[in-house]
Amino acid sequence: MKEENKKRLTYVLYAFIIFALFGFLIWLGHFCAFQDFITKIEQSSFDLRQTILSKYKKPNKDIVILSVDDASYEYIMDKYGSWPISRKIWADTINFLEQAKPKNIIMDLLFVKANLNDIDSDNALVNSIKNNDNIFLSMNFDNYNDEIRKSPTIDDKFKLKIKEGYLEDNSYVTFINARTVMPELMNTAKNIGIINVTRDNDGIIRNATPIFKYKGDYYPNLSLLAAMDYLDIDSVSIIDDEIVLDEKHTIPLDMSQRTILNWYGKSASYKHIPLWEVIKAQKENNLEFINKNFKNKIVYVGTTATSLSDIKSVPVESNMSGVELHATFFNNILDNNFIKKSSLKIDFLISILLCLSVGYLVLKTENVAKTFMFLFTTLILYSIFALLIMQFFNIWITIIFPFITTITTFILIYCEKYLLKSKDYEQTYKLAVTDGLTQIYNHRYFQEQMIININNFKRYGQVFSIIILDIDFFKKFNDTYGHQSGDCVLKQVASILKKNSRTSDIVCRYGGEEMTIILTNTNKKDAEITANKICQAIRNNKFTLANGEKVKVTVSVGVATVGENGQTPQEIIEYSDKCLYKAKETGRNKVVAEI
Ligand code: GH3
Ligand code: MG
Ligand code: MG
Repeated sequence: MKEENKKRLTYVLYAFIIFALFGFLIWLGHFCAFQDFITKIEQSSFDLRQTILSKYKKPNKDIVILSVDDASYEYIMDKYGSWPISRKIWADTINFLEQAKPKNIIMDLLFVKANLNDIDSDNALVNSIKNNDNIFLSMNFDNYNDEIRKSPTIDDKFKLKIKEGYLEDNSYVTFINARTVMPELMNTAKNIGIINVTRDNDGIIRNATPIFKYKGDYYPNLSLLAAMDYLDIDSVSIIDDEIVLDEKHTIPLDMSQRTILNWYGKSASYKHIPLWEVIKAQKENNLEFINKNFKNKIVYVGTTATSLSDIKSVPVESNMSGVELHATFFNNILDNNFIKKSSLKIDFLISILLCLSVGYLVLKTENVAKTFMFLFTTLILYSIFALLIMQFFNIWITIIFPFITTITTFILIYCEKYLLKSKDYEQTYKLAVTDGLTQIYNHRYFQEQMIININNFKRYGQVFSIIILDIDFFKKFNDTYGHQSGDCVLKQVASILKKNSRTSDIVCRYGGEEMTIILTNTNKKDAEITANKICQAIRNNKFTLANGEKVKVTVSVGVATVGENGQTPQEIIEYSDKCLYKAKETGRNKVVAEI
């Protein structure tokens, strides 16, 4: 296989390993806090996106909030001395507002118990609600057991009509008890919606529950009920995780059968009219004031005063009043712009695509700064992409999971790349110090090692010896058997040298048919023994030639030891050379260690 292809295959293999690792991480994530951690950061990224985008969104101008704000609270305490105010005041306010013909008045206030000390006031409120069809009251569900409050039966007229589909029971949707409004209102009111809200683990409200279940029946959220009235719809269908109101208006449901709200901005994005101004206008019978502010409007009535503590944390701010939250839900229904979460499959696909592109860039780019730039640019571009997707399609695509997987891939591939590089380097180094024919070290390596060993001798007194050997009559051998057979012999001599030396010894080809061994930690006597062993092993060996023929070869060997025969590489080599020359001179096929 070509080197290039081998490399490619390695990359593919590594990519597979990385994805297997991912799979494992995800699998592991389901069983530990990792998942919670990701969810939390993802939610924060959603909040950030909403905060940025809400600046460019416009709430419905027809929604106004009649608020019991801090000033109104003070006004009430001043004028009436207590909160809640007498229901007569609400009755008067409603009757006064109705003169401006608002589309509807949605009360995010609970008129729970009858006030036995002020029955006239209660009756006044009952009458004003009886006379006006466009008033929406609220109540809530809870899970009190029967001992605390007997769970009431609710009149059929308040049930939500569902044409088709159903909701599964779950703790966000299904409740076992109800806190109804006072009985007279239950009898006279035409519209009552549910105002329960649910917080995420971090205390922030991102979802609304459009439909509730109680005693097996369905009940609408206050804002769903008001929106159905506004759109002139009397029943809904639940189809494929969506509540279908009409052709243009649907509410998507997530896994918990709630819907994710799309925020229009911080408090006061809707027009607020303080209650005290309305009470004052009523006393002055200032019709111009209410016509200007409430004519044809959807009026949400609720408390915004901090001292009345109906304050919630939502993605765009930490202190939004409950009434604005309900108004936002209503607004989302009218604009049909709820947020939908992208599916797990899409999130996974995005992660894989990002990982592959970042992985590819890391492999392709040599410059370190550029590689990091690519990573940051990819992540920033993806964040902008996610923001735009939310802006134009109201889809919440996950950011954190792709971020984690992409950065992990980046790190892994980066490490992998440098591992491969160092392997390449190792290979190159090996090639640089090895002799191609015999596969033992080359001359250059021999010289390097000589210097190192001399240094070790000088610093630590580590003695070493060298053996130098030369094949006898090799010129003639080549002439007789041919160069190819000569090469065969050289290889076999090298392998005999390796076999007969220790792993700490350094066997090198000195040049031509001369070879050397650096014997570390070896004195002259031991070096001579090794040299003789080698000389004998070669003498006894039958060398196989290129044509299969077997022949005998002999070598002459010289030995030198550091200290006694020299202090520098040159001196030691020279001494061993002289020994070798002496061996040649005195008949060859022998070892000479002294001159
Ligand atoms: P002696 O050493 O016994 O004095 O005689 P010699 O014939 O071996 O003389 P010398 O060492 O000077 O000869 C070196 C010869 O080794 C020359 C060349 O033909 C042969 N030789 C050197 N390198 C190689 C090689 O890589 N392959 C082969 N086949 N022969 C080589
Ligand atoms: Mg020679
Ligand atoms: Mg020779």
